[in-house]
Amino acid sequence: MISINEHFLKLQAGYLFPEIGRRRRAFAAAHPDARVISMGIGDVTEPLAPAVVAAMKKAADEMGRAETFHGYDDGGVGYKFLREAIQKNDYASRGAEIGLDEIFVSDGAKCDTGNIQEIFGLDNVVAVTDPVYPVYVDTNVMAGRTGGAAEGGRYEGIVYMACTEENGFVAEPPAEKVDLIYLCFPNNPTGAVATKEQLAEWVAYAKKNKAIILFDAAYEAFISDPKIPHSIYEIEGAKAVAIEFRSFSKTAGFTGVRCAFTVIPKGLKAYTKGGEAIEVNPIWNRRHCTKFNGVSYITQAGAAAIYTDQGKEQTQRIIDIYMGNAKVIRETLDKLGYTVYGGVNAPYIWLKVPNGMGSWEFFDLLLNKAHVVGTPGAGFGAAGEGYFRLTAFGTPDNVAEALERFAKIK
Ligand SMILES: *Cc1c(COP(=O)(O)O)cnc(C)c1O
Repeated sequence: MISINEHFLKLQAGYLFPEIGRRRRAFAAAHPDARVISMGIGDVTEPLAPAVVAAMKKAADEMGRAETFHGYDDGGVGYKFLREAIQKNDYASRGAEIGLDEIFVSDGAKCDTGNIQEIFGLDNVVAVTDPVYPVYVDTNVMAGRTGGAAEGGRYEGIVYMACTEENGFVAEPPAEKVDLIYLCFPNNPTGAVATKEQLAEWVAYAKKNKAIILFDAAYEAFISDPKIPHSIYEIEGAKAVAIEFRSFSKTAGFTGVRCAFTVIPKGLKAYTKGGEAIEVNPIWNRRHCTKFNGVSYITQAGAAAIYTDQGKEQTQRIIDIYMGNAKVIRETLDKLGYTVYGGVNAPYIWLKVPNGMGSWEFFDLLLNKAHVVGTPGAGFGAAGEGYFRLTAFGTPDNVAEALERFAKIK
């Protein structure tokens, strides 16, 4: 008899976005003439930069000629031309020395942040922030690193670090000893960023406790404050304790193209039960090359074009559109008397729900009164209750109209 992996049965059935969709459809059915504006999606809305499109067209033509055809990307870790561009522009330029064989190109940071736990023991204690990007938690549940879910959706065995107004939505290292720590800065959903000093505390904690930090920097391109680090490797000693995830999804509108990368420095170690230190880089290399066969040449050519002068300028213009939206959202809501966080170094605005309302209650109010859809904070974790996520992805016109409607419900 075939048995199922029962850890999957512990998962809280992908509740958040299906429930949002259900409520939105019910509203649309009852109000067929209402034009609903979404400020809820974590997906980009602007088209690809022309430099990226041109590079992908050229690469497609190369694939059509015998002399320039490409088959498998040897080893599947990414073409050298892309890894060199990453090394130079993302790391060397910020004073971080990262080797080409420390960079693994992939088809997404979701897969990478989800898959990475596979190479670590099942007895590791996992720590996540609350609220959190659900992928980190769910993949550890699937692997069997947790017990069941308790009231409020928190899983037994995971250490949740609440991110609140009091700590500025940046958790401090926990008092207890944990092994695998997921951090995401700039943060989805709160829009918070961590300073060099705050990250240095985490690096010191990881070093002291022989822990590993999994640092998701998918939104680094949205940082506007020059003092805020873009990479955890800008912190002294981080190469010995941290893995970094990056993605072209939000940076350059690649959500539908699919390209990302993970950095695993040589010298980063995990331990056997007997206490022997094992290099993590070759283990991930083995895993990556066994289960993955590389990102398409056309896609990698497009990704490399982001690093050209033209590509940088064009993608920055796109980011400026989103961050212009973020600024308008922040300033308008502030004027309307809301308490808002984020939106300065991240495309997310974390709004404090007024009058002690629940975050789903506010969702319904906003949908019914303003025909605007956002994301209830409770969907990202127990500590997200009382908050609401608005995204800056969208056209400036839609954002302006949504904000006018906000004004009417106040
Ligand atoms: C969007 C997002 C990613 C990127 O995922 P891809 O699979 O590369 O599209 C990673 N982490 C967080 C927190 C995100 O919001």
